[in-house]
Amino acid sequence: LNRRLAEFGTTIFAEMSALAVRTGAINLGQGFPDTDGPEEVREAAVRALRDGRGNQYPPGPGVPELRTAVAEHQLRHYGLAYDPDREVLVTAGATEAIAASLLALVEPGDEVIALEPYYDSYAASIALAGGTRVPVTLRPRDGRFVLDLDELRDAVTPRTRLLLLNTPHNPTGTVLTREELAEIAKLAVERDLLVVTDEVYEHLVFTDETDGTTPAHLPLASFPGMRERTVSIGSAGKTFSFTGWKVGWVTSTPELVAAVRSAKQYLTFVASGPFQYAVAEALALPDSYFTSFREDMRAKRDLLSAGLTAAGFEVYRPAGTYFITTDIRPLGADRSGGGDGFAFCRALPERAGVVAIPNAVFYDHREAGAPFVRFAFCKRTEVLADAVDRLKAL
Ligand code: PMP
Ligand code: GLN
Repeated sequence: LNRRLAEFGTTIFAEMSALAVRTGAINLGQGFPDTDGPEEVREAAVRALRDGRGNQYPPGPGVPELRTAVAEHQLRHYGLAYDPDREVLVTAGATEAIAASLLALVEPGDEVIALEPYYDSYAASIALAGGTRVPVTLRPRDGRFVLDLDELRDAVTPRTRLLLLNTPHNPTGTVLTREELAEIAKLAVERDLLVVTDEVYEHLVFTDETDGTTPAHLPLASFPGMRERTVSIGSAGKTFSFTGWKVGWVTSTPELVAAVRSAKQYLTFVASGPFQYAVAEALALPDSYFTSFREDMRAKRDLLSAGLTAAGFEVYRPAGTYFITTDIRPLGADRSGGGDGFAFCRALPERAGVVAIPNAVFYDHREAGAPFVRFAFCKRTEVLADAVDRLKAL
């Protein structure tokens, strides 16, 4: 293994899912739903396969139907206009979109700022691109993991090429506010930074019960001066519960999309032919699909949050995503295994029959993430209820 990748072993998701299979534990670790996406979308994939659409290499940028559907989705939900021919690129999931963006836009030695804790592929993709990662740590405050905008500002140096953002944020569930995004946008314009923004949980922003406002995802590209410097990333795995299909997309300017495509063509070239047609249909589903997807997940969030609180965890109730970050220290030294999330998660399948993810793996400053553990709630209600019962008996 070369030096760039030496620090990365097996991903935590593979490790923990294997542990779940081996022990028969309930898997609230890796973020994948245990219920597949809409029947009509599966039927659309079957039709594409049967009719011979996408069974051979699809076009490099993605099939026109899907590129058009992505552009229409951005317009319908956010009022953002993209040209399907020049400003949309279909990728093999968001993972490839992230890797290709970094490979295309980062020169060796460039600094890339990422919010810490960060999704694990960010660190590996920055490393593959020869970049230097500069983490800015989200810190718990008033029940939420908060970005310190001064810290972000201070992290920018003359070597900073790019901000790699993620909102709604995995694993903390933080949704950056309009004010925070406006400040980030101002900084990016001032310091002439590119921004790659991972918005795969865009349809999982929950109602804010405190003021009753309608939930809405705010794409960074919609802020002043941002459209021309932002690469936005979405995923059918997350939005339609088909994580195995590996269909993602990028929207940006013609120049940035062409750059990302240059890298993408030597990674997978193309992927997921028939599924691209099905996802095109999924993106055109009526608003009721997106509303009920979100409300279903919100109910699951509430169920698991209440259960984890009752079991003794400190719960950071997420404003978005399908993950809950908890602090295990309130369980006490014995039950929490000394407050070390890593040891806790390794032992949890045997102790309680549940799998979770230690947030420490998403940190450079591991000690800052040590007591935090992530649970996924994209599971059937009875599975969540069973997991809660097991955790209460811990
Ligand atoms: N970004 C984030 C924040 C994610 O949580 C995930 C997957 N869980 C991805 C990217 C990868 O998405 P995909 O499966 O479409 O590659
Ligand atoms: N993104 C998913 C998570 O955070 C897992 C995806 C993967 O296994 N790479 O759980």
